[in-house]
Amino acid sequence: MAEIIDGNAIAEEIKSELKAEIAQMRAKGRAPGVATLLVGDDYGAKMYRRQVERTAAEIGLAYRDVSLPAEATLADVVGGMHALNQDPTVHGILPLRPLPKGMPEAPVLEAIDPAKDIDCLHAINAGRLSLGQPVVYPATPWACYVLLERFFAHKGLDPKAAFEGKDLVIVGRSNIVGKPAYFLALERNATATTVHSFTSRAGALPAHTRRADILIVAMGKAEFITAEMVKPGAIVVDVGINMKPVLDDAGQPVLDDRGRPKRKTVGDVAFDEVREVAGAITPVPGGVGSVTNMLLMRNVVQAAGRA
Ligand code: NAP
Repeated sequence: MAEIIDGNAIAEEIKSELKAEIAQMRAKGRAPGVATLLVGDDYGAKMYRRQVERTAAEIGLAYRDVSLPAEATLADVVGGMHALNQDPTVHGILPLRPLPKGMPEAPVLEAIDPAKDIDCLHAINAGRLSLGQPVVYPATPWACYVLLERFFAHKGLDPKAAFEGKDLVIVGRSNIVGKPAYFLALERNATATTVHSFTSRAGALPAHTRRADILIVAMGKAEFITAEMVKPGAIVVDVGINMKPVLDDAGQPVLDDRGRPKRKTVGDVAFDEVREVAGAITPVPGGVGSVTNMLLMRNVVQAAGRA
Protein backbone atom coordinates (compact mmCIF):
# COMPACT_ATOMS: atom_id res chain seq x y z
CA MET A 1 0.00 0.00 0.00
CA ALA A 2 1.42 3.38 -1.08
CA GLU A 3 2.44 6.09 1.34
CA ILE A 4 0.35 9.22 0.90
CA ILE A 5 2.36 12.35 0.10
CA ASP A 6 0.48 14.97 2.10
CA GLY A 7 0.36 18.18 0.04
CA ASN A 8 -1.64 20.02 2.70
CA ALA A 9 1.01 19.40 5.34
CA ILE A 10 3.83 20.46 2.98
CA ALA A 11 1.86 23.57 1.96
CA GLU A 12 1.51 24.45 5.67
CA GLU A 13 5.29 24.14 6.10
CA ILE A 14 5.93 26.49 3.18
CA LYS A 15 3.27 28.86 4.47
CA SER A 16 4.98 29.22 7.88
CA GLU A 17 8.33 29.80 6.17
CA LEU A 18 6.79 32.48 3.95
CA LYS A 19 5.03 34.20 6.87
CA ALA A 20 8.33 34.55 8.68
CA GLU A 21 10.17 35.84 5.58
CA ILE A 22 7.42 38.34 4.75
CA ALA A 23 7.31 39.61 8.35
CA GLN A 24 11.07 40.24 8.15
CA MET A 25 10.72 42.08 4.84
CA ARG A 26 7.88 44.21 6.21
CA ALA A 27 9.94 45.04 9.28
CA LYS A 28 12.57 46.45 6.90
CA GLY A 29 9.89 48.51 5.12
CA ARG A 30 9.83 46.30 2.01
CA ALA A 31 6.26 44.91 1.93
CA PRO A 32 5.92 42.45 -0.96
CA GLY A 33 2.71 42.57 -3.00
CA VAL A 34 0.84 40.39 -5.48
CA ALA A 35 -1.81 41.34 -8.04
CA THR A 36 -4.29 39.40 -10.14
CA LEU A 37 -5.69 40.52 -13.48
CA LEU A 38 -9.16 39.16 -14.19
CA VAL A 39 -10.97 39.71 -17.50
CA GLY A 40 -14.64 38.73 -17.66
CA ASP A 41 -16.44 36.55 -15.13
CA ASP A 42 -15.28 32.98 -15.62
CA TYR A 43 -16.24 31.03 -12.47
CA GLY A 44 -12.91 29.17 -12.18
CA ALA A 45 -10.89 32.35 -12.69
CA LYS A 46 -12.90 34.17 -10.02
CA MET A 47 -12.44 31.26 -7.59
CA TYR A 48 -8.72 31.41 -8.23
CA ARG A 49 -8.69 35.17 -7.60
CA ARG A 50 -10.42 34.67 -4.23
CA GLN A 51 -7.91 31.99 -3.35
CA VAL A 52 -4.92 34.24 -4.14
CA GLU A 53 -6.50 37.09 -2.16
CA ARG A 54 -7.16 34.82 0.84
CA THR A 55 -3.68 33.27 0.83
CA ALA A 56 -2.06 36.70 0.46
CA ALA A 57 -3.98 37.96 3.51
CA GLU A 58 -3.00 34.88 5.53
CA ILE A 59 0.72 35.25 4.93
CA GLY A 60 0.93 39.05 5.02
CA LEU A 61 1.32 39.91 1.32
CA ALA A 62 -0.29 43.08 0.00
CA TYR A 63 -2.91 42.28 -2.66
CA ARG A 64 -4.23 44.29 -5.59
CA ASP A 65 -7.09 43.22 -7.83
CA VAL A 66 -7.60 44.54 -11.36
CA SER A 67 -10.86 43.29 -12.88
CA LEU A 68 -12.00 44.19 -16.38
CA PRO A 69 -15.35 43.39 -18.02
CA ALA A 70 -15.66 40.60 -20.60
CA GLU A 71 -16.15 43.31 -23.29
CA ALA A 72 -12.68 44.77 -22.60
CA THR A 73 -10.50 45.00 -25.70
CA LEU A 74 -7.02 43.50 -25.96
CA ALA A 75 -5.65 47.06 -25.69
CA ASP A 76 -7.59 47.53 -22.40
CA VAL A 77 -6.15 44.31 -21.00
CA VAL A 78 -2.60 45.11 -22.07
CA GLY A 79 -3.12 48.59 -20.57
CA GLY A 80 -4.24 46.99 -17.27
CA MET A 81 -1.12 44.84 -17.30
CA HIS A 82 1.13 47.85 -17.93
CA ALA A 83 -0.48 49.66 -15.00
CA LEU A 84 0.42 46.71 -12.74
CA ASN A 85 3.93 46.57 -14.22
CA GLN A 86 4.42 50.19 -13.16
CA ASP A 87 2.93 49.83 -9.67
CA PRO A 88 5.89 49.70 -7.22
CA THR A 89 3.73 47.99 -4.56
CA VAL A 90 3.15 45.02 -6.89
CA HIS A 91 6.04 42.53 -7.21
CA GLY A 92 4.16 39.62 -8.78
CA ILE A 93 1.32 39.57 -11.32
CA LEU A 94 -0.95 36.66 -12.10
CA PRO A 95 -3.21 36.95 -15.16
CA LEU A 96 -6.22 34.74 -14.44
CA ARG A 97 -7.23 32.31 -17.16
CA PRO A 98 -9.22 31.52 -19.15
CA LEU A 99 -9.43 34.91 -20.84
CA PRO A 100 -12.77 35.68 -22.54
CA LYS A 101 -13.43 33.67 -25.70
CA GLY A 102 -11.65 35.14 -28.70
CA MET A 103 -9.03 37.06 -26.72
CA PRO A 104 -5.54 35.82 -27.68
CA GLU A 105 -3.46 34.76 -24.70
CA ALA A 106 0.06 35.35 -26.07
CA PRO A 107 -0.02 39.19 -26.22
CA VAL A 108 -1.46 39.34 -22.70
CA LEU A 109 1.26 37.09 -21.30
CA GLU A 110 3.93 38.96 -23.27
CA ALA A 111 2.73 42.21 -21.68
CA ILE A 112 3.78 41.06 -18.17
CA ASP A 113 7.05 42.56 -17.00
CA PRO A 114 9.24 39.40 -16.91
CA ALA A 115 10.53 40.53 -13.50
CA LYS A 116 6.95 40.37 -12.14
CA ASP A 117 6.01 37.12 -13.86
CA ILE A 118 5.38 34.71 -10.96
CA ASP A 119 4.29 31.69 -13.00
CA CYS A 120 6.97 31.60 -15.75
CA LEU A 121 4.37 32.59 -18.35
CA HIS A 122 6.44 35.13 -20.28
CA ALA A 123 8.39 33.72 -23.24
CA ILE A 124 11.65 35.12 -21.82
CA ASN A 125 11.21 33.22 -18.56
CA ALA A 126 10.00 30.04 -20.28
CA GLY A 127 13.01 30.26 -22.63
CA ARG A 128 15.41 30.75 -19.72
CA LEU A 129 13.96 27.67 -18.02
CA SER A 130 14.42 25.59 -21.17
CA LEU A 131 18.07 26.76 -21.41
CA GLY A 132 18.74 25.65 -17.85
CA GLN A 133 19.04 29.28 -16.70
CA PRO A 134 15.82 29.64 -14.70
CA VAL A 135 14.83 32.91 -13.05
CA VAL A 136 11.36 31.83 -11.95
CA TYR A 137 9.82 28.36 -11.81
CA PRO A 138 6.26 27.70 -13.00
CA ALA A 139 4.28 26.97 -9.84
CA THR A 140 2.41 23.77 -10.77
CA PRO A 141 5.27 21.67 -12.17
CA TRP A 142 7.58 23.07 -9.49
CA ALA A 143 5.06 21.92 -6.87
CA CYS A 144 5.42 18.32 -8.12
CA TYR A 145 9.15 18.38 -7.38
CA VAL A 146 8.93 20.34 -4.13
CA LEU A 147 6.38 17.80 -2.87
CA LEU A 148 8.72 14.95 -3.72
CA GLU A 149 11.85 16.65 -2.38
CA ARG A 150 10.22 17.41 0.96
CA PHE A 151 8.69 13.91 1.09
CA PHE A 152 12.13 12.35 0.53
CA ALA A 153 13.79 14.70 3.03
CA HIS A 154 11.17 13.85 5.71
CA LYS A 155 12.00 10.18 5.18
CA GLY A 156 15.69 10.91 5.73
CA LEU A 157 16.53 10.28 2.05
CA ASP A 158 18.77 12.50 -0.05
CA PRO A 159 16.32 14.44 -2.26
CA LYS A 160 19.00 14.83 -4.97
CA ALA A 161 19.86 11.16 -5.19
CA ALA A 162 16.16 10.30 -5.33
CA PHE A 163 16.00 11.75 -8.88
CA GLU A 164 19.45 11.14 -10.34
CA GLY A 165 19.36 8.60 -13.15
CA LYS A 166 15.78 7.58 -12.28
CA ASP A 167 13.23 6.93 -15.02
CA LEU A 168 10.86 9.88 -14.70
CA VAL A 169 7.89 9.82 -17.06
CA ILE A 170 5.59 12.80 -17.53
CA VAL A 171 2.16 12.29 -19.07
CA GLY A 172 1.19 15.57 -20.79
CA ARG A 173 3.11 18.26 -22.65
CA SER A 174 1.14 21.46 -21.99
CA ASN A 175 3.06 24.71 -21.76
CA ILE A 176 1.97 25.24 -18.15
CA VAL A 177 2.59 21.77 -16.70
CA GLY A 178 3.98 18.93 -18.82
CA LYS A 179 6.63 20.78 -20.81
CA PRO A 180 8.22 22.68 -17.91
CA ALA A 181 7.97 19.51 -15.76
CA TYR A 182 10.35 17.94 -18.29
CA PHE A 183 12.94 20.71 -17.88
CA LEU A 184 12.68 20.44 -14.09
CA ALA A 185 13.31 16.67 -14.38
CA LEU A 186 16.46 17.29 -16.47
CA GLU A 187 17.60 19.88 -13.92
CA ARG A 188 17.50 17.04 -11.35
CA ASN A 189 19.43 14.66 -13.61
CA ALA A 190 16.50 12.27 -14.02
CA THR A 191 16.12 10.24 -17.23
CA ALA A 192 13.08 12.15 -18.44
CA THR A 193 10.44 11.05 -20.95
CA THR A 194 7.38 12.98 -22.03
CA VAL A 195 4.34 11.14 -23.38
CA HIS A 196 1.15 12.61 -24.81
CA SER A 197 -1.99 11.82 -26.77
CA PHE A 198 -0.06 10.55 -29.79
CA THR A 199 1.79 8.09 -27.52
CA SER A 200 -1.66 6.82 -26.51
CA ARG A 201 -2.87 6.64 -30.09
CA ALA A 202 0.18 4.53 -30.93
CA GLY A 203 -0.82 2.19 -28.08
CA ALA A 204 2.47 2.88 -26.30
CA LEU A 205 1.33 4.75 -23.19
CA PRO A 206 1.27 1.82 -20.68
CA ALA A 207 4.72 0.63 -21.83
CA HIS A 208 6.13 4.05 -20.91
CA THR A 209 4.22 4.59 -17.67
CA ARG A 210 5.09 1.06 -16.43
CA ARG A 211 8.78 1.91 -16.76
CA ALA A 212 8.57 4.96 -14.55
CA ASP A 213 10.25 5.08 -11.15
CA ILE A 214 8.58 8.48 -10.82
CA LEU A 215 5.38 9.14 -12.76
CA ILE A 216 3.96 12.67 -13.09
CA VAL A 217 0.51 12.79 -14.63
CA ALA A 218 -0.98 16.01 -16.07
CA MET A 219 -3.50 15.04 -18.72
CA GLY A 220 -6.90 16.33 -17.55
CA LYS A 221 -8.57 12.90 -17.90
CA ALA A 222 -10.38 11.68 -14.79
CA GLU A 223 -8.85 8.53 -13.26
CA PHE A 224 -7.19 7.55 -16.56
CA ILE A 225 -4.04 5.99 -15.08
CA THR A 226 -4.95 2.59 -13.67
CA ALA A 227 -3.01 0.14 -11.49
CA GLU A 228 -1.76 -1.97 -14.38
CA MET A 229 -0.15 1.13 -15.93
CA VAL A 230 2.05 1.68 -12.87
CA LYS A 231 5.26 -0.09 -11.87
CA PRO A 232 5.04 -1.63 -8.39
CA GLY A 233 6.71 0.70 -5.91
CA ALA A 234 6.68 3.72 -8.26
CA ILE A 235 6.16 7.23 -6.95
CA VAL A 236 3.07 8.80 -8.52
CA VAL A 237 2.33 12.53 -8.66
CA ASP A 238 -1.18 13.37 -9.83
CA VAL A 239 -1.59 16.92 -11.16
CA GLY A 240 -5.10 16.41 -12.60
CA ILE A 241 -8.16 18.20 -11.29
CA ASN A 242 -11.39 16.79 -12.69
CA MET A 243 -15.02 16.87 -11.54
CA LYS A 244 -16.84 13.55 -11.50
CA PRO A 245 -20.47 12.71 -10.61
CA VAL A 246 -20.95 10.87 -7.29
CA LEU A 247 -22.79 7.56 -7.88
CA ASP A 248 -24.58 5.32 -5.38
CA ASP A 249 -24.12 1.52 -5.13
CA ALA A 250 -26.61 1.04 -7.98
CA GLY A 251 -24.60 3.37 -10.21
CA GLN A 252 -27.20 6.15 -10.00
CA PRO A 253 -26.21 9.82 -9.50
CA VAL A 254 -26.44 11.01 -5.88
CA LEU A 255 -28.32 14.32 -5.60
CA ASP A 256 -27.57 17.22 -3.25
CA ASP A 257 -30.12 19.12 -1.08
CA ARG A 258 -31.20 21.13 -4.12
CA GLY A 259 -31.76 18.03 -6.25
CA ARG A 260 -28.62 18.58 -8.36
CA PRO A 261 -26.15 15.75 -9.08
CA LYS A 262 -23.35 15.76 -6.49
CA ARG A 263 -19.83 15.96 -7.89
CA LYS A 264 -16.43 15.25 -6.44
CA THR A 265 -12.89 16.25 -7.39
CA VAL A 266 -10.67 13.47 -8.71
CA GLY A 267 -7.25 13.37 -10.30
CA ASP A 268 -5.97 11.80 -13.51
CA VAL A 269 -4.95 8.71 -11.53
CA ALA A 270 -7.40 6.06 -10.29
CA PHE A 271 -6.28 6.67 -6.71
CA ASP A 272 -7.88 3.71 -4.90
CA GLU A 273 -6.39 1.07 -7.19
CA VAL A 274 -3.05 2.76 -7.93
CA ARG A 275 -2.30 3.21 -4.22
CA GLU A 276 -2.36 -0.60 -3.97
CA VAL A 277 0.69 -0.89 -6.28
CA ALA A 278 2.55 2.42 -5.98
CA GLY A 279 5.22 3.12 -3.36
CA ALA A 280 3.94 6.65 -2.74
CA ILE A 281 1.20 8.79 -4.24
CA THR A 282 -0.20 12.32 -4.03
CA PRO A 283 -3.95 12.58 -3.39
CA VAL A 284 -6.43 14.87 -5.19
CA PRO A 285 -7.44 17.11 -3.52
CA GLY A 286 -4.71 17.69 -0.96
CA GLY A 287 -1.71 17.07 -3.21
CA VAL A 288 -0.11 19.20 -5.92
CA GLY A 289 -2.79 21.95 -5.88
CA SER A 290 -2.20 22.91 -2.25
CA VAL A 291 1.53 23.35 -2.80
CA THR A 292 1.10 25.19 -6.12
CA ASN A 293 -0.62 28.12 -4.38
CA MET A 294 2.13 28.48 -1.82
CA LEU A 295 4.84 28.36 -4.49
CA LEU A 296 3.18 31.19 -6.40
CA MET A 297 3.50 33.23 -3.21
CA ARG A 298 7.09 32.08 -2.81
CA ASN A 299 7.73 33.48 -6.32
CA VAL A 300 6.23 36.84 -5.26
CA VAL A 301 8.57 36.99 -2.28
CA GLN A 302 11.55 36.11 -4.49
CA ALA A 303 10.55 38.76 -7.05
CA ALA A 304 10.24 41.32 -4.26
CA GLY A 305 13.66 40.31 -2.97
CA ARG A 306 15.17 40.88 -6.44
CA ALA A 307 13.34 44.20 -6.99
P1 NAP B 1 -3.92 20.33 -21.17
O1 NAP B 1 -3.37 21.62 -21.62
O2 NAP B 1 -5.28 19.91 -21.61
O3 NAP B 1 -2.87 19.18 -21.59
C1 NAP B 1 -3.18 17.84 -21.41
C2 NAP B 1 -2.04 17.01 -21.90
O4 NAP B 1 -2.38 15.64 -21.72
C3 NAP B 1 -1.75 17.20 -23.40
O5 NAP B 1 -0.36 17.29 -23.59
C4 NAP B 1 -2.33 15.95 -24.04
O6 NAP B 1 -1.60 15.49 -25.18
C5 NAP B 1 -2.17 14.94 -22.92
N1 NAP B 1 -3.20 13.91 -23.04
C6 NAP B 1 -4.53 14.05 -23.12
N2 NAP B 1 -5.13 12.86 -23.28
C7 NAP B 1 -4.16 11.94 -23.31
C8 NAP B 1 -4.13 10.54 -23.45
N3 NAP B 1 -5.24 9.82 -23.62
N4 NAP B 1 -2.93 9.91 -23.41
C9 NAP B 1 -1.78 10.60 -23.25
N5 NAP B 1 -1.74 11.94 -23.11
C10 NAP B 1 -2.92 12.60 -23.14
O7 NAP B 1 -3.95 20.25 -19.57
P2 NAP B 1 -3.01 20.97 -18.49
O8 NAP B 1 -3.30 22.41 -18.44
O9 NAP B 1 -1.62 20.49 -18.62
O10 NAP B 1 -3.64 20.33 -17.15
C11 NAP B 1 -3.60 18.95 -16.93
C12 NAP B 1 -4.40 18.65 -15.68
O11 NAP B 1 -3.78 19.29 -14.57
C13 NAP B 1 -5.83 19.17 -15.70
O12 NAP B 1 -6.67 18.26 -15.00
C14 NAP B 1 -5.76 20.47 -14.95
O13 NAP B 1 -6.99 20.82 -14.33
C15 NAP B 1 -4.72 20.13 -13.91
N6 NAP B 1 -3.99 21.29 -13.37
C16 NAP B 1 -3.76 21.30 -12.05
C17 NAP B 1 -3.04 22.33 -11.48
C18 NAP B 1 -2.74 22.31 -10.00
O14 NAP B 1 -2.28 23.27 -9.44
N7 NAP B 1 -2.92 21.16 -9.34
C19 NAP B 1 -2.60 23.39 -12.27
C20 NAP B 1 -2.81 23.34 -13.66
C21 NAP B 1 -3.51 22.27 -14.20
P3 NAP B 1 -1.53 16.36 -26.55
O15 NAP B 1 -0.58 17.47 -26.27
O16 NAP B 1 -1.01 15.40 -27.57
O17 NAP B 1 -2.92 16.83 -26.81
